[in-house]
Amino acid sequence: MLQKSQTSNSELEDILSYFDGSMPDAASELKFTNPFELIVAVVLSAQCTDKRVNMVTPALFAAYSDAFAMSKASVEDILRYVSSVSYPNSKAAHISALSKKLVSDFGGEVPHTMEELTTLPGVGRKTANVVLAVAFGKPAMPVDTHVFRVSHRLGLVPPAANTPAKVEEILTKRIPAEILSKAHHWLLLHGRYTCTARNPKCEGCGLKNSCINFTRTHSVLVKLGCTSTKPK
Ligand code: SF4
Repeated sequence: MLQKSQTSNSELEDILSYFDGSMPDAASELKFTNPFELIVAVVLSAQCTDKRVNMVTPALFAAYSDAFAMSKASVEDILRYVSSVSYPNSKAAHISALSKKLVSDFGGEVPHTMEELTTLPGVGRKTANVVLAVAFGKPAMPVDTHVFRVSHRLGLVPPAANTPAKVEEILTKRIPAEILSKAHHWLLLHGRYTCTARNPKCEGCGLKNSCINFTRTHSVLVKLGCTSTKPK
């Protein structure tokens, strides 16, 4: 029998409703107080944990509170504050350059559109989507490694969606705009804490009965005689 590879719309509704019930207040775990702090924190968070970023940003923002102040700091000045995050040299250079561009092209303010945001050094589509969703409350779906993995495991996207851009496009079509940015947090947090890359916590996962990956894995185990016939 052919295995299903994508959830139906009603299954998707059930999954979103589960997330809504289990994580009603899902939000970014990065600490920030304005769009400038957020964009800097998101640049720092690439391939680094939010926890680590939150350890360095309070002192960085106390020293350089906005784009004007940060644009006057040298890369070495910034590096002193961010040396414990991953790729500190390139991130410090990006923060310096993006602050200068914010001052020269945007009056020191973080712009509100994808086109403008992605002109900033170090700001790709994912970072821009985080800023749009989190700082400005716009419907946006940043696809990071967690969102990508969980979307595939749950079958929210077909196996052919093999790039973050394709996953973003499909999720944006399938998930109502009014909850799109919230759904980003749900998928990200589910991936960070439950549906982890290695050893996902399937037994304790409230979505295992609607999860295509779990059903597939379980049916293989049943065939091998390793477990009972029905997922609990
Ligand atoms: S059942 Fe397992 S694979 Fe499926 S969403 Fe839950 S943790 Fe992830």
